[in-house]
Amino acid sequence: MSYNIAIDGPAGAGKSTIARAVAERMRLIYVDTGALYRAMSLFMLREGVDLQDGEAVIRKCREADITIRYEEGVQVVLLNGENVNEYLRTEEVGHVTSTYVSVIPEVREKLLELQKRLAAESDCVMDGRDIGTCVLPHADRKIYLTASSEVRARRRYNELAARGEECELEKLQRDIEERDYRDMHREISPLRQAEDAVLVDTSDMTVDEVVERILAICKR
Ligand code: C5P
Repeated sequence: MSYNIAIDGPAGAGKSTIARAVAERMRLIYVDTGALYRAMSLFMLREGVDLQDGEAVIRKCREADITIRYEEGVQVVLLNGENVNEYLRTEEVGHVTSTYVSVIPEVREKLLELQKRLAAESDCVMDGRDIGTCVLPHADRKIYLTASSEVRARRRYNELAARGEECELEKLQRDIEERDYRDMHREISPLRQAEDAVLVDTSDMTVDEVVERILAICKR
């Protein structure tokens, strides 16, 4: 049996930074499931699918072969054989994913299989929205990572500013709150804290503090 840690939480709570660090410290694989949903959205955008047309999205998703490979410990997402990592982390892809793609049951079903297989094959830290509730209900440890929307928007703002990208703090916060709302209120596998998940609010914590906290939770 493999050892699995599930980390869920809203956008910008620091899941990927934290999950990656925990994985490194515990010598586990890090599985970023958001990247799988994002790869599906990228495929829809490239194919020019009418995103408002759910049936068209369902038909098209059957043509997408999405897999993961690890290169020197880094997760590489392959979309029909192509490494698409560099195209996944844009605001547009994030928006399309939560609005049109992650809400489709057929898309979730398709990606669910891959996630379950990865977790069964390897000791891993997996992050997303429905890992503790749906993908790995029997995970060894479950963490629900969150922070106030002000703090999450501020972190995102600093990240973009460091890259020299202009943005408006209020708009970022609004976008984050809208994304949370969509992810928490969709019909299938909405974002929520699993009953047996430990809540970690990172609003007033540094990255190192959060990592130590999670390592402590996992040692129990
Ligand atoms: O975590 P990330 O920002 O990459 O996720 C992008 C979007 O993918 C989320 O807003 C959500 O709609 C969707 N997602 C999901 N289930 C997951 C991971 C991501 O529905 N396990």
